[in-house]
Amino acid sequence: MIENDLDFALDGNAAAGALREVFAADVTTAHIQCDACGSVGAVGSLRYYAAPMGVVLRCSNCAAILLRAVQTPHGHWLEMRGARRLRVAPT
Ligand SMILES: [Zn+2]
Repeated sequence: MIENDLDFALDGNAAAGALREVFAADVTTAHIQCDACGSVGAVGSLRYYAAPMGVVLRCSNCAAILLRAVQTPHGHWLEMRGARRLRVAPT
């Protein structure tokens, strides 16, 4: 008997195909929603601040930080706590 949805859970490797479609897309055309003010726009319309270690993208409406991307010797780091959601259109 199935007790709840967790009974259908797989490990994260099963999501590889779906995530590949998200991370291989041109993210500048994706739509992102600001968690602070709720505005929605293309990632390419955000304000870009080039930092020595990477990228900071701010909301073009309220200037909240939506995305930080940093490259270090240990890998690429992506932080999007200021974004409510990201929508990548199907190709
Ligand atoms: Zn905003």
